[in-house]
Amino acid sequence: MPTPLGHALGGLAVGVLVSGPTTRMLTVGRRKVPLLVAWSVCGMLPDLDFLVGAHQGVTHSLGALLVVALATQILEPRRPVLWVAAAAAYGSHLVLDWLGSDTVAPIGIMALWPFDGGFYLSPYEWFFPVCRDYWLVACRADLVQAVTWELVSLGPLVIAVLLFGRFRRGRAG
Ligand SMILES: [Zn+2]
Repeated sequence: MPTPLGHALGGLAVGVLVSGPTTRMLTVGRRKVPLLVAWSVCGMLPDLDFLVGAHQGVTHSLGALLVVALATQILEPRRPVLWVAAAAAYGSHLVLDWLGSDTVAPIGIMALWPFDGGFYLSPYEWFFPVCRDYWLVACRADLVQAVTWELVSLGPLVIAVLLFGRFRRGRAG
């Protein structure tokens, strides 16, 4: 599974791809949050399940994605593109985890919950497994390898989408 950095990059790329221009804000209560930040957070959000000692369960599912879209609809009732962008940014996490390596049971993510309780993992292992024994030197080397690969594989996508967003904004304005 990718690191939080990989998930932030994935959420950012997909969110901006859907929402377009990148200087807009998302209203959360009385605060305005830059969309770049909002989409990055959406990309990392499913891993909050670590805080309750679980992982890759319902927060990594289609059901949770729909909840995120609904919550965004409540925050921004007149901007449907943001509902889709938030869901897409959240969904990027599911796709990246599905494309990752998993070494801890249950293997995979509960992608189709509540329609199906099975765990799914692609056979491709596009991303390196993330070592969580940070005190080990070998673990740190593995983390550097994983982060480097995420930057190499997702960084160009993020740059391309941000440039595309600027281009669209320039044409619109
Ligand atoms: Zn995850």
